[in-house]
Amino acid sequence: MLEKNTPQELVWEGIAVSPGVAHAVVHVLKDHFDEPDATPISEDEVDSDLARWRTALEVTRTEIEALQKAMEGQDGSAEAEIFEAHLLILHDHSILKQVEKTVREQLICVDAVYYRLMCKHMDALRGLSDSYLRERFLDIKDVTQRVMRHLRGEMLDHPMFEDPVIIVAHDLTPSDTVQLDRSKVLGFALEMGSANSHAAIIARSLSLPAVVRLHNICEDLHSGDSILLDGDEGLLIRNPSAETLAKYRSREARADAREDALHLTRHQPSVTMDGFTIQVSANAEFIEEMESIRDSGAEHVGLFRTEFLHLEDPEANEDWLAECYTRAVKAMSPGEVIFRTLDLGGDKMDPRMTFEEEPNPFLGWRGIRASLGRRDLFRRQLRALLRASAHGRAGIMFPMVSGVEEVREARALLDECARELLHEGVMIGDDIAIGAMIEIPSAAVSADLIATEVDFFSLGTNDLIQYTIAVDRLNERVASLYQPTHPAVLRLIRMTVEAANRAGIRVCICGEMASDIELTPLLVGLGLHELSVTAGQVARVKHAVRQLNAAECRALAEEVMCQGCMVSGLEKTRAMAMTKYPDLLE
Ligand code: PEP
Ligand code: MG
Repeated sequence: MLEKNTPQELVWEGIAVSPGVAHAVVHVLKDHFDEPDATPISEDEVDSDLARWRTALEVTRTEIEALQKAMEGQDGSAEAEIFEAHLLILHDHSILKQVEKTVREQLICVDAVYYRLMCKHMDALRGLSDSYLRERFLDIKDVTQRVMRHLRGEMLDHPMFEDPVIIVAHDLTPSDTVQLDRSKVLGFALEMGSANSHAAIIARSLSLPAVVRLHNICEDLHSGDSILLDGDEGLLIRNPSAETLAKYRSREARADAREDALHLTRHQPSVTMDGFTIQVSANAEFIEEMESIRDSGAEHVGLFRTEFLHLEDPEANEDWLAECYTRAVKAMSPGEVIFRTLDLGGDKMDPRMTFEEEPNPFLGWRGIRASLGRRDLFRRQLRALLRASAHGRAGIMFPMVSGVEEVREARALLDECARELLHEGVMIGDDIAIGAMIEIPSAAVSADLIATEVDFFSLGTNDLIQYTIAVDRLNERVASLYQPTHPAVLRLIRMTVEAANRAGIRVCICGEMASDIELTPLLVGLGLHELSVTAGQVARVKHAVRQLNAAECRALAEEVMCQGCMVSGLEKTRAMAMTKYPDLLE
């Protein structure tokens, strides 16, 4: 039986990971394929709708038979048997009968009816420990996916939207996110995820509300449902009542008034009361963000995560990359854009590239290791970055550095690419800052050695915290252990700052802790020169810095370091933040 929408308000509680409120219809991305809208049809349309579905089944049959034949030819008899099972599912008499009956009785388009019925069968098998039944689940999913694509007459696996939507999904990987039509996405509501997952980071970067850990929403919500997503309180409200909407409208008006005040001062420099400048830059993932970053009050981009451009088109050639990087550099001119070279691996897998499956990808072939292992890719990127550097201020930094040798090797390749380009008569910039990300404890501990090879450090605290405390940044079960004020993390930060100061190079934090205004007093006190934050936080962090006194912050950091207790450390920085800028923490 198809469930009918009821106007009754229903509330789910999850974890807020990106602030803001959105009110729109949802688009459910279920198991990486979309739930179709339950569009009503007239009686006259029933036969043509069913004919369209039968054609899709027929095309799917031809497709499966072709695959089966190819497998038999390659002696893949086991695989050929799987396709036999797929054909049985495709022609299952009871499913065919049930779909036709429901369409005729309920007058709903066949796409939705077929999809929901197949999901019902999948749900019955999902999560069962019996391996045979688990395989049946995958078989049904595979067949459904094929039929749905043919029904929509498309082979695309990334959806386009006519109207703005809130994305509801089990989880979103970075490659899922780049495939979305972001101009139409108003928020993310996910069953999985954590504050440090890249879906959450992207939501904050795009200033979209996001809530994670909303259990079973993929089951209970359907594409087209109207919801209100509250990224401040971590709520998802289906069919919000008039009263709820009125409450949110007045809250929005108050928030707008606060934003307006911050907006007026966003381009002012961020200098502490006693005259120390802390540069506040922005983090970026997409070229289209540059305009809003300029408008946020950031003069520079302290971290451009190039993986996302790469995931949009892994086959892109050097010319296209150079053009994209140049657009970013020009958009920020005269400010600087620090490009991080590809940090693929970990959770930023490129499914279209043949990375070998690894038992522990976060400790595997990722970041600079993968770049040095794929020199063709790395050279393409380095050459494109060098070409962009002719058009403005571009910096280059290497991710996941574990020791000085990797930096030397990467720099040598960069120098080689520069010589090549000059030999070819291609212009490159003459003042390119080269940096190392400090996000592995071994890099922080050997920061004095690395400092002699680079112009700056950028502390990637998202990873530094996970590797220092051995707590997976994506795993909600151990999330309470993921603490930026853990004494070990603070010691590694201090060690890095001291090494940078001794070598006379600058040091920035580009991890998410830089965006947390409760931590700004502590970070200023630890001697950071720059904070690179999510664009939506630039004005806030700049305002916070302006209310602080660097000498007081240093005394605070000293006390926190001496006490060596993460709870009291957090309390102390929080207390100073509350005294200096209570307006921001309301
Ligand atoms: C970090 O680890 O802090 C960082 C900025 O990199 P990412 O979050 O992309 O891993
Ligand atoms: Mg990192």
